[in-house]
Amino acid sequence: MPSPYSNLYNDSGRLELDLREELERTFNGAVDEIPKGRTGLLRRMRRDANGDPIRCPCRDKQTDEPSRDSYCRYCLGMGFLWDERKMLYYKNEDTFNKDSFMFYLQYDKDIDSKDYLVELIIDKEGNPVLPVKRYKLYNILEVFPYKSDHGRLEFWKIYAQEERKWSTWYGVKNRQY
Ligand SMILES: [Zn+2]
Repeated sequence: MPSPYSNLYNDSGRLELDLREELERTFNGAVDEIPKGRTGLLRRMRRDANGDPIRCPCRDKQTDEPSRDSYCRYCLGMGFLWDERKMLYYKNEDTFNKDSFMFYLQYDKDIDSKDYLVELIIDKEGNPVLPVKRYKLYNILEVFPYKSDHGRLEFWKIYAQEERKWSTWYGVKNRQY
C-alpha cells in the first residue's frame, strides 16, 4: 500500500509538499485533475565557448543587422542561432501590463533570460496543430528559480513579454513554418 505521504517529503523534520509532483499533476492531469499544461517551445540561444550568443551568418557585413526582409530559415530574423525544445508550461493570464505574463515551467529545463518562449497554435483539443505553427514569441525578462527550503529547484517562474515585432519580423500571416 502506498504511503499516504508519498506526495510529501521530509525536510529537516518538516513535511513539505513535493512541488515538482504538484506541478506535474497540474500540467499532465491526474484522476481528480484535468491537465492544465500547454505545449510550447523553449527557444534557447546557442552559446560559444565564452557563453556569448552565436551570431547568424545572415547578418549584413556593413550594418550588422540580421536579414529580416529575406526570410532567414536559420534564425527567423533574430540574428542569433538557437535551438527549440518542446516544453510544457502554464501561463498566468493575469497581465502585469498589456503584454507581460508569468509562465511556469518544469524544473528539468535549463533556461536563462536570453531565451524565448514560443506559444503554438493549438487545435480544439488543446494539442498543437501539425506541422507545428508558431503563434506568439515571448521575450524573457526575468527568470525566478523557485526553490524549496531544502534548496531543491521545484519549478521556474518566468516573467516574459510578448515580442511585438513578431508579425513584422516573421510575417506570420503569410509564412508557413
Ligand atoms: Zn539568420
